[in-house]
Amino acid sequence: MTRYIDVNDLARLVNRKGLPTCLAEMADYIRQDYLRWHDFEKCPRLANHSPDGVIELMPVSDASLYAFKYVNGHPKNTHNGLLTVMAFGALGDVDTGAPVLLSEMTLTTAIRTAATSALAARYLARPDSKRMALIGNGSQSEFQAIAFHTLLGIEEIRLFDIDRGASEKLAANLAGYPQLKLTIAGSVAEAVRGADIVTTVTADKAYATILTAELIEPGMHLNAVGGDCPGKTELHRDIVERARVIVEYEPQSRIEGEIQQMPADSPTTEFWQVVEGSAAGRENAGQVTLFDSVGFALEDYSALRYVLDVARALDIGHDIALVPELENPKDLFALLQPKGCERKANAA
Ligand code: NAD
Repeated sequence: MTRYIDVNDLARLVNRKGLPTCLAEMADYIRQDYLRWHDFEKCPRLANHSPDGVIELMPVSDASLYAFKYVNGHPKNTHNGLLTVMAFGALGDVDTGAPVLLSEMTLTTAIRTAATSALAARYLARPDSKRMALIGNGSQSEFQAIAFHTLLGIEEIRLFDIDRGASEKLAANLAGYPQLKLTIAGSVAEAVRGADIVTTVTADKAYATILTAELIEPGMHLNAVGGDCPGKTELHRDIVERARVIVEYEPQSRIEGEIQQMPADSPTTEFWQVVEGSAAGRENAGQVTLFDSVGFALEDYSALRYVLDVARALDIGHDIALVPELENPKDLFALLQPKGCERKANAA
């Protein structure tokens, strides 16, 4: 049988553990898997583009588990009452191909993205970072804010969104974190001035320049999350040229990341090298660092692994007959016979 976790199950799982605990534990699963980088069979995700969006499949596997995520990105969706990013995913047993887990991944993606951002900032931001600018205050933003507050000790966040209502929603949703000082800024420049970390998590299918070079101060860490497909960037090229750039998986980031604006041989470092210590993260206090995040399948593998472990421990979700389990595995036709399914279900 396959464990099935729907949106309500996942919300229950997160509320039972507490979001800060989930973020911390998922960040650790992600770190552990980045440390095993060479164990994984990897490829850039497969993207089907349409004028207003993209639908992507993100596979990865090691010797024991295969993972994939289906995820979309449709920045205009919110005008029609739909999320910009929606996702689901699965884990399969490599030895047999049997699906082990089928899970919602919309909430899970927001948690894994924030956990990855905070994990990267641990290596790339100045250790004394206290103040963050958060540009783009939609669905991902609460998760980013809480991750940076609880995992990195960020004490103050300045919010900016072209939709002030989104910033007000974010501020209201963070009311349970009274130690976190929040200000809604009137412009990107006002939000960014004096920040130690700048997170951009906007949605627009365009070569946007949310940040331009004159806004960037020495020693800033830039966590660029929203530019994640061809023709969709957030940073002016001058910033990318000047920063120390860390990417998740270079073959995918060359197509989708901020570095799509750069020559194919522009210097970048893959995150796993920083995690294992074979490459430096931040090299000095004055350096501008850029985590050019696009979201890599390995983070979803880690997230699904975490969800399955916690769901089993807390007995959340239920088992479904996603693929047949037969008394005679050569007799698929038996399923079509009267009581075929029920007979097997009763036997189980
Ligand atoms: P969302 O639509 O809920 O929120 C996006 C927000 O950005 C909106 O409130 C919108 O008003 C704001 N915005 C758009 N243009 C802006 C601008 N020029 N200046 C300021 N604000 C602006 O989307 P979401 O789910 O929060 O996702 C945000 C982005 O993050 C998307 O582009 C998505 O594809 C990307 N994303 C990346 C990863 C990753 O792993 N890197 C993971 C998930 C989502």
